[in-house]
Amino acid sequence: MKTYKYRIYPAKSQAIAIDENIEQSRQLYNELLSLKKDAYKKDKTSLTRFDLIKKTKGKNKEAYSQVSQNVADRINKAYRNFFARVKRGEGKKGFPRFKKYGKYASITLPQIVNPEKIGKKTYFPKIGWLNTKYHRPITGTPKTLTIKKAKSGKYFITISCANPTTERLKHGKGEIGIDLGLNHFVTTSNGEFFDHPKPMKGMAKKRKTLAREFSKTTKRSNNRNKARIRLAIVDEKVANVRNDFGWKLCRKFIEKYETIYLENLNVRGMVKNHCLAGAITDVSWSDFTNKLSFKAESAGGKVVKVNPKNTSQKCSGCGDIVKKTLAIRTHNCLNCGLKIDRDINASINILTIGKIGLEQPKLTPERDEASTDGISPKQVLSMKQEATQLVRW
Ligand SMILES: [Zn+2]
Repeated sequence: MKTYKYRIYPAKSQAIAIDENIEQSRQLYNELLSLKKDAYKKDKTSLTRFDLIKKTKGKNKEAYSQVSQNVADRINKAYRNFFARVKRGEGKKGFPRFKKYGKYASITLPQIVNPEKIGKKTYFPKIGWLNTKYHRPITGTPKTLTIKKAKSGKYFITISCANPTTERLKHGKGEIGIDLGLNHFVTTSNGEFFDHPKPMKGMAKKRKTLAREFSKTTKRSNNRNKARIRLAIVDEKVANVRNDFGWKLCRKFIEKYETIYLENLNVRGMVKNHCLAGAITDVSWSDFTNKLSFKAESAGGKVVKVNPKNTSQKCSGCGDIVKKTLAIRTHNCLNCGLKIDRDINASINILTIGKIGLEQPKLTPERDEASTDGISPKQVLSMKQEATQLVRW
């Protein structure tokens, strides 16, 4: 399956219709979820997808019946995902919840019946022909069509296609260790540096100003709403730059290497610490590692996460511990005389640890491991120090 995304430009009346459809779908979602929860509470009955679909009949008059069926599917999927997480032992988080106003942003047509109705004008039942910025053609068999309203107020469609015919990325040969940091976004064991495009910094600054303005507005006021949209527009731009940069960088690594080693940083756990959250999310390490894992897997390559313990302090030449604060950018080993950039030293260590790990299967870190096991408290501390430096943005 491959998903294509396009901006659409609905006429005013169409935009109103889309908004209404989304809002009614949200209400339907809450209604069905409530039915499902009540039925279980009352006599332990689990309403099936089919039961839920029956209940949608005649409920959401503005929407095409298939769109309402998809609302039932979403509940079904939310439950399925929840139980899958429990089964994997990830705790009981994420039980399906009611959607507040504004927290439901899309409608989906689960079965495209007329694929020829996709193009510069795309047809969505009950809404009509939508002007579409069809910048590249879809390939494969289109299956679902979703209209989404972004927080910025812009509208998009996504089309998921089965059996796309786009050329598959092929992985290269060899291995590489990469270090994710703040001084350079990525440093490789070959001594290369990759940084976020320059405009990112300007955008981050602008975001900070807008966030301050937003916080000064009165709750539920018109000005607050406008400020929220301005903020969302900047967020969208930042996300676009980040995605573009991230995907291109992934491609570069995967085309060149078969196995990529990186640190298993529990970024998700750290984002909870809210004063650092902004900084860490901005740097977007987790976003990048997810992209890299996803791309590598689809190309048949591998991304292996290694234990980050001592990667920055250890000498990659002789194994001695060379203590250094974050301000010290050069690794200078008095024992073996190795003098290199601290991040290059770290990425060489990551490569070495990764290779050893593979030779001893027991030590191989689990892929996509979400626990904090691989990370020492000291390492978390040093990451926090690095993150705090970034708050200056
Ligand atoms: Zn040394």
